[in-house]
Amino acid sequence: MGEYFKNIYKAIVTILIGMGVTWRHLFTRAVTIQYPHVKRELPPRSRQKLFVDIDDCIGCFQCARACPVDCIDIETVKAGKEEDLGETSTGQKKRLHVVKFDIDLTKCCYCADCVFPCPTECIVMTPKYEFSTYDRFDLIEHFSAYSAEEAEKLKERDRKEKEALAAARAAKMQAAPKPPSSDKPGPSA
Ligand code: SF4
Ligand code: SF4
Repeated sequence: MGEYFKNIYKAIVTILIGMGVTWRHLFTRAVTIQYPHVKRELPPRSRQKLFVDIDDCIGCFQCARACPVDCIDIETVKAGKEEDLGETSTGQKKRLHVVKFDIDLTKCCYCADCVFPCPTECIVMTPKYEFSTYDRFDLIEHFSAYSAEEAEKLKERDRKEKEALAAARAAKMQAAPKPPSSDKPGPSA
């Protein structure tokens, strides 16, 4: 019976101690914020969602090579002889159509290793950190300015050009005069 009342006493004391802590904190300054209505300013070098200014991308693959988790997927097609793709804002000549530039943000670990080697500084970390979604495939960011049809047309043109070049080379090799045979009849026994 004594143990029974002891337990009741302990429960009351424990509740009073807990309520005392709550009461004290009613009069101290809050350290929490009402997120998402209130947002903290992020540190200046914090790393969040990537962005690619595709107009400035020269398709050099340096970012993709630096990525430790292979989450950058780039495809390029060489510009035609008569095509002028212009320059980037940093003055580099653009020689490739960047027909695919995808970043899979489900794999990205926000290390920023892709940002530093970019020669045109067109891949950057943004302050955007709220991009949750219901569909994981929405987290694959597409940056290429070409539609799937345009990309396919360019790739097809590239394939044909390469085939024509290979055929021309093969024809040239066949037409080239053959070197005289060095086989000499061996000494007769
Ligand atoms: S931040 Fe790191 S993991 Fe993400 S794409 Fe760039 S190199 Fe890859
Ligand atoms: S390093 Fe920069 S320029 Fe080169 S492919 Fe990546 S984003 Fe484009």
